[in-house]
Amino acid sequence: METPQKKLCPHCKKGRLAYRAKRPPLVKAFLFWLPIKRYSCSLCSKKSYVYGSAWETAPQKNTNNAI
Ligand SMILES: [Zn+2]
Repeated sequence: METPQKKLCPHCKKGRLAYRAKRPPLVKAFLFWLPIKRYSCSLCSKKSYVYGSAWETAPQKNTNNAI
């Protein structure tokens, strides 16, 4: 079993989305029915929305393609 880790920050690609960030009231009002959470990066402190869980899923092969 590998230790689960939080997702990588899409901004700096080094930090982890470690902290929950508060969503703006507008987002909360309109997207409350979506499993979207807002996290802030432990490194660059930028906020990112995460769909579903912030934990990385099990590593898969051939999914390392750059987008
Ligand atoms: Zn970051």
